[in-house]
Amino acid sequence: MPDFICDNISVNAAGRLCFAGQDTTALAARYGTPLYLMDEDRLRHNMRIYTQAFQRCFGPGSRVLYASKANAFRQIYRIAGEEGLGVDVVSPGEIHSAHSAGFDMALAYFHSNNKTDADIRYAMDCGVGCFVVDGEEELRAIDAAAAARGTRQKLLLRLTPGIDPHTYAAVDTGRVDSKFGSAIETGQAEAITALALSLEHIDLAGFHCHVGSMVFDEDVFQRAAAVMLEFVAMVQKKYGFLARELDLGGGYGVPYTAADGSVDIGARIGEVAEYIHQTCARLSIAEPAILMEPGRSIVADAGMTLYTVGAVKRIPGYKTYVSVDGGMSDNPRYALYGAKYTCYTAGRMAEPAALRCDLVGRCCESGDVIQPDVCLAEGTCRGDIAAVCTTGAYNYSMASNYNRIPRPPIVMLRGGESYVAVRRESLADLVMLDE
Ligand SMILES: *Cc1c(COP(=O)(O)O)cnc(C)c1O
Repeated sequence: MPDFICDNISVNAAGRLCFAGQDTTALAARYGTPLYLMDEDRLRHNMRIYTQAFQRCFGPGSRVLYASKANAFRQIYRIAGEEGLGVDVVSPGEIHSAHSAGFDMALAYFHSNNKTDADIRYAMDCGVGCFVVDGEEELRAIDAAAAARGTRQKLLLRLTPGIDPHTYAAVDTGRVDSKFGSAIETGQAEAITALALSLEHIDLAGFHCHVGSMVFDEDVFQRAAAVMLEFVAMVQKKYGFLARELDLGGGYGVPYTAADGSVDIGARIGEVAEYIHQTCARLSIAEPAILMEPGRSIVADAGMTLYTVGAVKRIPGYKTYVSVDGGMSDNPRYALYGAKYTCYTAGRMAEPAALRCDLVGRCCESGDVIQPDVCLAEGTCRGDIAAVCTTGAYNYSMASNYNRIPRPPIVMLRGGESYVAVRRESLADLVMLDE
């Protein structure tokens, strides 16, 4: 029996793969495939690791924001709200999803490197508590929109601290040459701070940075905090402005395969907090409230995707392809950045994993690979259920209707029960917008 990468994965006496204690082949039979499963108990557990560490380590006003781009649907906003998290939203669509789910929008932080005037108005209409501002044009547009309403808009300025987190290029966002934020190194961060302080309808609360994603390096948050706190201290000395909030972004990595490391998030946050306490003391500044915006580490291991195997194509002397009834339309991460996954044949866990193959989707693209070079159960054949683990982050939220494939439903697993949180897209849904 394999060692599983998360303790919500197991095998039952019948040799079937279980997720959150439930037989995945039975779930596939009940709800159909492709199917996204979400282990709600794990999701809440992951949220509590953060909220408990924050309570233990940081002062009043500190808060965990769920970076909802990792997986956004109404029920997840409700759960985040129940667990006392704020949320990070990046578009009117995410704002609408959170707002219409009853989420307290005062706890929403609106990111994105290009908010249109309409986006800004919509966010204000919905009562979004805080904007995270990328650059000068946007800052002026927010000031103007707030002026038109006779309000002051609370915001953080997104800065690039110039930290290389040693991760994939596509998710490396904290360097000076990033498309996001204002660089400290070039003086642009200071210039935008001075501008924000001069605008009447702007309530500058502090600063934000996000160095990247899939971060395993031990001291990335300490390095980012050091640069940001030096900046806070400089701004206080030069402008008499004391930042109330410092948002260190998200990014902790999770294991996708046995080869990956894992991060003890509670312990890491303790170390980051200790470092921040010391640094603030050294710089003689009051410690701002600390925010973090985890996405992946909250949702990734709470997710699993199930597919039905269609064809097992053996090309003698070359390789074997196992095709399933989904693909890059529901999981584009391998196609996008070569992401790794652990895969199983759910009903054949007692068999040796001796079928070396590429697990591929049904889309008309050779690049439609879910995972190359995996070992499925020896007898895998048409009709079997293939399971891809750790798909809770950046799968549903990045899904498309490529080839007009309907998106799978999301079924939540909670305390041995299951319920539909997002229904399966129908063929009628696919043509709903067509005239
Ligand atoms: C993507 C993103 C996050 C979340 O990153 P994870 O790697 O999923 O934790 C947080 N903050 C910002 C600004 C982001 O762009």
